[in-house]
Amino acid sequence: MSNNKNFVEKITNMDEDFAQWYTDVVTKAELVDYSSVRGSMIIRPYGYALWENIKDALDKRIKETGHENVYMPLFIPESLLQKEKDHIEGFAPEVAWVTHGGDEKLQERLVVRPTSEVLFGEHYKNIIHSYRDLPKLYNQWANVVRWEKTTRPFLRTLEFLWQEGHTCHETDEQAHEETVKMLNVYAEICEDILAIPVIKGQKTEKEKFAGAKYTYTIESLMHDGKALQSATSHHLGDGFAKAFGIQFLNREGKQEYVQQTSWGFTTRIIGAMIMVHGDDRGLVVPPRIAPTQVMIVPIAQHKEGVLDFAYDLKEKLSQTVRVGIDASDKKPGWKFNEYEMKGIPLRLEAGPRDIEQQQVVLVRRDTGEKLITPMEGLEAKIQEILEDIQINLLEKARSHRESKTSVATTFQDFKEQIEHKGGFIKAMWCGDQACEDKIKEETSATSRCMPFEQEKVAETCVCCGNEAKHMVYWAKAY
Ligand SMILES: [Zn+2]
Repeated sequence: MSNNKNFVEKITNMDEDFAQWYTDVVTKAELVDYSSVRGSMIIRPYGYALWENIKDALDKRIKETGHENVYMPLFIPESLLQKEKDHIEGFAPEVAWVTHGGDEKLQERLVVRPTSEVLFGEHYKNIIHSYRDLPKLYNQWANVVRWEKTTRPFLRTLEFLWQEGHTCHETDEQAHEETVKMLNVYAEICEDILAIPVIKGQKTEKEKFAGAKYTYTIESLMHDGKALQSATSHHLGDGFAKAFGIQFLNREGKQEYVQQTSWGFTTRIIGAMIMVHGDDRGLVVPPRIAPTQVMIVPIAQHKEGVLDFAYDLKEKLSQTVRVGIDASDKKPGWKFNEYEMKGIPLRLEAGPRDIEQQQVVLVRRDTGEKLITPMEGLEAKIQEILEDIQINLLEKARSHRESKTSVATTFQDFKEQIEHKGGFIKAMWCGDQACEDKIKEETSATSRCMPFEQEKVAETCVCCGNEAKHMVYWAKAY
């Protein structure tokens, strides 16, 4: 296998240089290519197939929870974006402007949407009149543009793909329920489909969405001990409704402003999947979103009957799993490495001796375990192994997160842990933004969330020593 080793060595060791490992994986596994526009990525077929599987799973749940898909325009007039003060302040530094149409200078500049709250606001004002028009539960799948200074494929790009839900409700309580419901949908997608364990909680005032009443978030931990905000769900209150005049006649016959929410989930999550499950051999893709779940590699395929057997097997297995076959004239060792790098959950090898004995060899991507499996009952066995891989990936990620989570009760502890161990730090906070700022300045860790499951790990704020109000998860983050 010595020639195979050379091939694998092309991927940088993750503990040596995690950033380079990430770049190697996204390019060599053919997820993305760079484009000539700085910070923009070309999502290649394998990367896009991953996104489609995530999108399908999420879209199904969005519809099951009563939402309808719509499509809003790409451009926002400057005056419309400026209607909600906090919102424009939050987004102004990173919007892309359109100033000309052809040769002609536009009378009013247009923004390429960084998010679509204001477009929905304008539309909702026109279509909502009475409580009978509520709730309005809209979602759109779209691309958005944010002019980021530093970029990395999937994690931070000038343009990315996402869905954004925008809803209107009669009451604050209903909007709250919606905010929670969609956060739970996101958590389910992360844990059940992507095998990424998440912590649910609320963002601090400093970290909340520009213009929101409050923001709920799910936070996950990457292999290198940095956190990644995986999705957010915002209760917008009636701030946008007031700015846009979205009023309805309530059940008492009075005019009232609607209560709104918005929530989003992006292609960033592919970056999370890579950094949570990947290893030194490349990607590890959870079976439930894997574009190919089983890859058949015929052994000694020039020998009589081998290819026929392999193609028959593919035909048979395609009834129950997403299965591929590589019958190219490349060496089996090359193929093994290639599909390991692409993170395909299960490899199936079949050669003359296996055929004779009515068996195949299955190799798990997550553990490397080799299983000689009889042809009889093969489909059921494959299902069982794929399920087991799915569960194993979630458990592995969860125990990695636990091993990288610590408690700090003094600022000294906090600094040492962030520097030497990384990961999540659970520490108490007084609620004052000055402490949050100081922690960020001195440690570069940010408050990730105030988890819904609060613990009292100390009486006083880790930073100033005043009385503590919340336990916060802190971490350096992507
Ligand atoms: Zn404090």
